[in-house]
Amino acid sequence: MTGTRDVLILGGGIIGCAIAHRLAKEGVSVTLVERGEIGREASWAAGGILTPVHLAEYPTPLASLCLAGMPLYEPFVKELGESSKEDLQFRTCGMLITCRDEGGEKEARHLEAWKHEHHLPAERLTREEALRLEPGLSPEIRSALLLPDIAQIRNNRLTRAVADAARRRGARILPRTRFTAFITSRDRVTGARTAVGDLAAGTVILATGAWSGEWSKELGFPVPVRPVKGQILLAQASPGFCRHIVLESGSYLVPRVDGRLLIGSTVEEAGFDTTVTLDAVHHLSGRAASMMPAARALPLIGSWAGLRPATPDRLPLLGRTPVEGLLLATGHFRNGILLAPITAEIVTDLVHGRTPAVDLRPFDPVRKMPE
Ligand SMILES: Cc1cc2nc3c(=O)[nH]c(=O)nc-3n(C[C@H](O)[C@H](O)[C@H](O)COP(=O)(O)OP(=O)(O)OC[C@H]3O[C@@H](n4cnc5c(N)ncnc54)[C@H](O)[C@@H]3O)c2cc1C
Repeated sequence: MTGTRDVLILGGGIIGCAIAHRLAKEGVSVTLVERGEIGREASWAAGGILTPVHLAEYPTPLASLCLAGMPLYEPFVKELGESSKEDLQFRTCGMLITCRDEGGEKEARHLEAWKHEHHLPAERLTREEALRLEPGLSPEIRSALLLPDIAQIRNNRLTRAVADAARRRGARILPRTRFTAFITSRDRVTGARTAVGDLAAGTVILATGAWSGEWSKELGFPVPVRPVKGQILLAQASPGFCRHIVLESGSYLVPRVDGRLLIGSTVEEAGFDTTVTLDAVHHLSGRAASMMPAARALPLIGSWAGLRPATPDRLPLLGRTPVEGLLLATGHFRNGILLAPITAEIVTDLVHGRTPAVDLRPFDPVRKMPE
């Protein structure tokens, strides 16, 4: 074996890297292996919206986890910013949820009530008020809900920045290093076989996102994570074309400071396929033009697909497993960018034998799941 470390992290997406950074900050010796480049899978492909899109509809434990995670973001990014070369563009741009019919307005009223119950800001706007705030919106909307506290980040740069910060704190980050098997000794995981040899560790953390389910058989318990494909388009607008994240009936526009406009996203059961389809280009560009008519004329400058790590009950798998020495931190589905800092806090507590502030029972990796 090539040297024993306290912790070995499998998977270099935002979840694995945030954990590596947090542990290294506490002086834990950490190795992370990533089979490709750091943060080039779901964590790169995401929209970077730092709130769940349908928060009021979430199962309560997941909504609570998201609410607990949101305030951790700014300090997390500030800490990276002090040493990072990357311009992460974390900014509270606010979100406008536009409504066209009674059904949309009913949902907006429900979310508004939920937000107020949780002491979070939400303001109903008339059609005229919404158009004053975001003049490019379709004049066909009936009203909108403004969520002024919603933030976004350039997630395609974030994971790399987190990995760099972890390295500076002493973590060993190994890109292009696939792990191929767990090493066990008397029902305990003691390391992993990797492309650079066997790596031993006191604790091993599985954070391989949509690929986590592949290990069920070897581990002897189900890791019920499956890939859910999401396609996104990127258009070039001028800065200020759109100022808020705009959400309508599940589709969203995310404006970056340089004018780039993300148009998202599809939600597809397509296995590990990451091709961009003409069907999705047609659907997403149609949705963008419907939300902001001038978007119709924007040049399309990019498109991609990523794989969300989904679980049957939409909750992540977070915590200890029946196999001693092995923790799971996966299955973050549509919220992994948002949930990275709080996941890192929780896992760090577990590694140190501390009780996390969050009740982990709903996220138990071997909980009963719906079929
Ligand atoms: C289209 C889309 C939009 C999204 N929008 C948002 C959003 O706005 N906000 C939000 O919070 N979340 C969003 N998400 C969800 C978010 O992207 C994911 O929840 C998050 O990125 C999961 O992070 P991860 O580290 O678990 O997975 P990943 O980023 O996929 O990382 C897992 C890593 O494990 C590596 N790996 C797998 N097998 C091995 C192996 N054998 N050896 C070594 N390495 C291995 C992979 O190469 C990969 O890099 C979106 C996702 C998609 C696809």
